Amino acid sequence: MSKHGFFDSPVEYLKGVGPQRAALLNKELQIFTFGDLIQHYPFRYEDRTTFYTIQALNDEMPYVQLKGKISRKTLVGAGHKKRLVAFLDDGTGTVELVWFKGIKWVQDKVLEGIDYVVFGKPQRYANKFSIPHPELEVYAPKHDQGGYLQPVYSITEKLRNRYLDSKAISKLQQELLTHARDKIHETLPDALLRQLKLTDKRDAIINIHFPKDHEALTRAQNRLKFEELFFIQLRLLKLKLVRKYKFRGKIFNDASLLTEFYNTQLPFPLTNAQKRVIKEIYADMRSGQQMNRLLQGDVGSGKTIVAFVCMLIAIGGGSQCALMAPTEILAQQHFKTLSELADAMRIPIALLTGSTKRSDRTSVHEGLRSGALKILIGTHALLEEEVQFHDLGLAIIDEQHRFGVAQRSKLWSKNKTTYPHVLVMTATPIPRTLAMTLYGDLDVSVIDELPAGRKPIKTVHKYDSHRLEVNAFIRQQIESGRQIYIVYPLIDESEKLDLKHLMDGYESICRAFPEVALSIVHGKMKPEAKEYEMARFSKGDTKIMVATTVIEVGVNVPNASVMIIENAERFGLSQLHQLRGRVGRGAEQSYCILMTDIKLSADSRKRIQTMVRTNNGFEIAETDLQLRGPGDLMGTQQSGVLDLLIADLGKDSQVLTMAREIAKRILDEDPDLQLPVNRMIREQIDRMSKTAVNWSRIS
Ligand code: ADP
Ligand code: MG
Repeated sequence: MSKHGFFDSPVEYLKGVGPQRAALLNKELQIFTFGDLIQHYPFRYEDRTTFYTIQALNDEMPYVQLKGKISRKTLVGAGHKKRLVAFLDDGTGTVELVWFKGIKWVQDKVLEGIDYVVFGKPQRYANKFSIPHPELEVYAPKHDQGGYLQPVYSITEKLRNRYLDSKAISKLQQELLTHARDKIHETLPDALLRQLKLTDKRDAIINIHFPKDHEALTRAQNRLKFEELFFIQLRLLKLKLVRKYKFRGKIFNDASLLTEFYNTQLPFPLTNAQKRVIKEIYADMRSGQQMNRLLQGDVGSGKTIVAFVCMLIAIGGGSQCALMAPTEILAQQHFKTLSELADAMRIPIALLTGSTKRSDRTSVHEGLRSGALKILIGTHALLEEEVQFHDLGLAIIDEQHRFGVAQRSKLWSKNKTTYPHVLVMTATPIPRTLAMTLYGDLDVSVIDELPAGRKPIKTVHKYDSHRLEVNAFIRQQIESGRQIYIVYPLIDESEKLDLKHLMDGYESICRAFPEVALSIVHGKMKPEAKEYEMARFSKGDTKIMVATTVIEVGVNVPNASVMIIENAERFGLSQLHQLRGRVGRGAEQSYCILMTDIKLSADSRKRIQTMVRTNNGFEIAETDLQLRGPGDLMGTQQSGVLDLLIADLGKDSQVLTMAREIAKRILDEDPDLQLPVNRMIREQIDRMSKTAVNWSRIS
């Protein structure tokens, strides 16, 4: 929004607001200025432009407007289930209007035989449609005159109680627009608007609040979404560009260590995807610019060996490497795998976590400072002040989304002269749109191929009532030598109820399999106890591992071929997928069994169905994004980049792709935005830099 003084005016000064309402708007919606208010866009619109027929209703429909007569009213049920049902008939069919509250009032007011205009959300039960708590108006000729799209604004309970509801906000917008109309300035160059057939800013703002018709609304939305995503992308790409100029990276072009490894120690042939990704990384590491690359690869796609190969490139050039993992278990797992490879290559490697003993720490610190220690694996303990490298050449961060961006940059600063190359690895496939925004300043490599010979995991959905059948399957698998995971939800480790649930489950498994050795692991256990149990399972001493999601990341037991997830409806999609990734690591056919209650919400059902249908992490991530929205995806909450005003990363991927392409093209031609055609863009960027809090959180 243009900052021409006018839009900076405190919202208090708008007619109809005043100090008290202003305080509420500040607190509840973070609306401080005229500019904030005008950018509080409606989140949906009620369509009063057409009448639907009852016959044509389906349960995918949002709010609909109907016209008809009430044929009958009746009270149903008793106590708090008591409700008033009125039957609306429009000649094509009948729909039930239902009230649970204010029954008395409706009963007196709503009359039979009169034409009503009804507005509400149809719901389907069996083959009947009903509309709970509809809006009802006596039909008048004005209802036929074109109608309108009514904006709906998000508000809070407090605002509603103080009569600042959606309609009141709409009134304020109307008042503001009468003054603001002529003060809305364009932020995108004319040529760009014409090229992309985007409407101008003023038209967009007016129609986003008061759309003339569907077409005008779509035009307004497209324009504002593009603008929002365009400026985000422009700034991300600019950041990347600046980094390229400014941050030199050490040049690594000695591949002898790498070649030795390939010739003598490579445990299996690399997949084409692994080879491609290594090439991309190597190209970065020898470029002279600091690498900032995101490596995405589904669980089991073989990121670890890629990480090791990249380490060899840095070590071959005389530098050291660090790998930071989000949990102690995962760090240990990495250490175990990488030690085998490093030992074979006679490369010194060490582990540093919160529970590393004092004496061991000292020797690790010394090894790092002298340069003798080449690889350090660890948790965020790596970030501590006393961890000083002789020459850190490559920093690898696993499961980045759990660290947040601030920690990413903390690792870089471990080197004084040049910045270490940074490789961020994530096993949570991130939908493209999200990656472009969340990691838009990074280059991206994708391992999109699993090692050959892996059998896809078979996933089935079973209701709790089929437990005996599932138990029989477990027994049969154990008899043929396999091991089993049984995972319970423990969303919040402090939740007593969840823990009880887990313990109850454990006991009933003990009863069902008295002859089988079990392990149990949960977040309330001491690290040593956890480790001990984990090790027993890993060695095959125990056959069933009962656990919470602590085993979600990193555990690698190839002989475990069955993953049973209890209360699967309580897990998010990406979490389910992560858990499933714990099996399917060996040569045997693996299974994932999702246990649920018979009652499932529509979203839970969709999640379970998606899991059963596909093993593809990217497809799952896309569905997750669509179901939950980006704000709820793992770890994205803390990143202010996703507080978008209007664009939706789950739905607007086309606009986003276009915004990024255009931003890239503009920066290619004019990296400093000095050309006259880009003047408007530069001014807008400057204005945003002054105000945007979010921006500082990205870098
Ligand atoms: P993730 O990407 O989940 O970290 P890992 O690196 O742990 O995957 O690899 C999963 C398993 O696959 C490991 O046991 C690893 O040794 C094996 N693996 C990795 N790459 C290959 C390959 N190219 N061929 C065969 N097995 C491989
Ligand atoms: Mg891994």
